[in-house]
Amino acid sequence: MSKVNLDWANIGFNYHKTDKRYVAHYKDGKWDKGELVDDAVLHLSECAEVFQYCQQCFEGLKARRTKNGDIAVFRPDMNAKRMHDAAIRLEMPPFPEDQFIDAVKQVIKANLDWLPPYGTGASLYLRPFMIGTDPIIGVSSANEFEFRIFCTPVGPYYKGGAKPISLLVSDFDRSAPHGTGNIKAGLNYAMSLYDHTLCKAQGFDENMYLDPATRTYVDETGGSNFIFITKDNEVVTPLSDSILPSITRRSCMYVAEHYLGLKTTQRKVRFDELKDFAECGVCGTAAVISPVGRVVNHGEELIFPSGMEHPGPITEKLLNTLSGIQECEIEAPEGWILKVEE
Ligand SMILES: *Cc1c(COP(=O)(O)O)cnc(C)c1O
Repeated sequence: MSKVNLDWANIGFNYHKTDKRYVAHYKDGKWDKGELVDDAVLHLSECAEVFQYCQQCFEGLKARRTKNGDIAVFRPDMNAKRMHDAAIRLEMPPFPEDQFIDAVKQVIKANLDWLPPYGTGASLYLRPFMIGTDPIIGVSSANEFEFRIFCTPVGPYYKGGAKPISLLVSDFDRSAPHGTGNIKAGLNYAMSLYDHTLCKAQGFDENMYLDPATRTYVDETGGSNFIFITKDNEVVTPLSDSILPSITRRSCMYVAEHYLGLKTTQRKVRFDELKDFAECGVCGTAAVISPVGRVVNHGEELIFPSGMEHPGPITEKLLNTLSGIQECEIEAPEGWILKVEE
């Protein structure tokens, strides 16, 4: 029985300080072996690289208690690999992928009281991140880095079924052509906050970003990848160098093909062909898939045939199947679920 007694179904997506976090340091050209610590606060130089030149990347993944009492983590190897790619792009030393997986296990085991019970819809969200820590004033990469994973319980994304969301086509870009749109870096979020505030103020849920070079093709939202369903039930996802490769979206495409027997395609998607699709959804760890009902571009409104009341039928099937796999209620493809031994 867990010591912590939260109203699991209603905690939302907020930070709760849990008991332990994993911390490793890079110094003199190598990562140390890392350890669990109690202190949730960092003590850094005012001139630390991360504060001046934003050398930072991060990840996000969930651990869940399953029906038969296991602890299941969804594809953490993909997070380890993606963080490796982000580190290379930001001139940071990649964190060893096997050490990443080991750290994930340690953090979960050290915070079992915070792992939401089965049946609440809540989960334990893990946030790995890496920062440059030594004082740097002339522009260059840091020499010392910290890798850290903390966790916080998060509530179920949907209460009473997935509701379609509304998107606003942003007049801003979330990444430059040949920029950093394809890595998970805090800097991509810092510059999207202004557009996000504008979008919320106008009553929309998220921005839709177009390709930064020509503003002709669909890229993604601020934090999730698109899938579109054609009128012939083909699942299409945009191809672009500026999209962050979502693990949820890649899993969703696999599920569409191998579990639902649907044709899947990754290709450039023109904004002006949106009117031809039957359904739309956005994919990410937080919500798995959010159905999209409406997209507005400079006052011009497009409502997908699936409408604003319910998810489209294929979107709903994909959501239920992928959620079922993550919750271990549907058999997962080989290697998709890491079970953590208590
Ligand atoms: C994290 C993120 C996503 C979703 O990726 P998942 O691996 O599915 O959680 C999509 N877009 C951006 C910009 C992101 O940062």
